[in-house]
Amino acid sequence: MDCIFCAIGAGDVPSDKLYEDPQCVAFRDLSPQAPTHFLVIPKEHIPSLAEFREDQEALLGHILAVIRDLAQREGLEGYRVVTNIGEEGGQSVPHLHFHVLGGRSMTWPPG
Ligand code: 5GP
Ligand code: ZN
Repeated sequence: MDCIFCAIGAGDVPSDKLYEDPQCVAFRDLSPQAPTHFLVIPKEHIPSLAEFREDQEALLGHILAVIRDLAQREGLEGYRVVTNIGEEGGQSVPHLHFHVLGGRSMTWPPG
């Protein structure tokens, strides 16, 4: 399968990595929407949060713990975690990823 985030997770495509472990990788977004904007992805291909198996629940919990720890390490006080799902949800890369955005005041509702 030709998936850009699988390739980043495997290290076949370079990225500005903040963190990596056997299950996930975190890297800065190419097109940052806030002073701090990074993505956390499972290395395993999961299309979106709408499509994961029960045996992947621990992986998702692990990713949330990584997000918590990286946000603290990056010095973010308040921040936003977003995962877009499907075309209408604004998802452009069909490999599950959590956006972590911070370093400025966030507005609501999102666009
Ligand atoms: P989505 O629109 O699917 O929620 O988010 C995809 C995000 O991935 C976008 O914010 C886009 O800037 C980022 N992105 C797409 N391709 C690459 C890439 O090759 N490297 C990095 N670092 N970010 C990417
Ligand atoms: Zn993938």
